Amino acid sequence: MSEKTLEKFLAGYRQFRETYFADNKAFIHELMNKRQAPKALMIACSDSRIDPSLKFGVDPGDMFIVRNVANLVPPFAPDSAAHGTSAALEFAVRALEVQHVIVMGHARCGGIKALMTQPQAGDFVAAWMKIAMPARERALKMSDVPDVAQRCCEHEAVKESLKNLLTFPWVKDAVNAGKLQTHGWYFDLETGTLSILNKGTGEFEAA
Ligand SMILES: [Zn+2]
Repeated sequence: MSEKTLEKFLAGYRQFRETYFADNKAFIHELMNKRQAPKALMIACSDSRIDPSLKFGVDPGDMFIVRNVANLVPPFAPDSAAHGTSAALEFAVRALEVQHVIVMGHARCGGIKALMTQPQAGDFVAAWMKIAMPARERALKMSDVPDVAQRCCEHEAVKESLKNLLTFPWVKDAVNAGKLQTHGWYFDLETGTLSILNKGTGEFEAA
């Protein structure tokens, strides 16, 4: 990281202090002196271009956000391994009692691209991306045009994550009790468009 990059971030911090922080002191004080109570958990990609806060009108306190490679939810696996995404899911659903879990896929996902082109690459990425292997298999049957197959895989991986969400017993219980809804979203930054999975048809539809 160059000096210039850090200078940009520190200038941004000073700007934040002078504007947002100065203008919202009462709101921030109130927010920080009570328990956080977000109504939604979003699982988004770590991709540097995909920032949920930038485009969904998110204020501090609104959204509990987990970002990982390719916005995947692993299946329920209560072993002694370190499961970062599952831990965040557990905290959001059991402790914070969020009402919505949104899995947000996105166009031109590098993780999905790696899965489509070099599924065995990396010390950790390959094992992580295995979660989306069923999505890859379905996508390869849908199209042999690489860009189209990748988009299909991005869509199918969201569906796979939604399926995995229900393998967590307390997610399934909350859904069955009507306390929690799960949603599949997909964002294309190039066109600036959000589409939402219609669970009835299995299609992503413009929001
Ligand atoms: Zn991505």
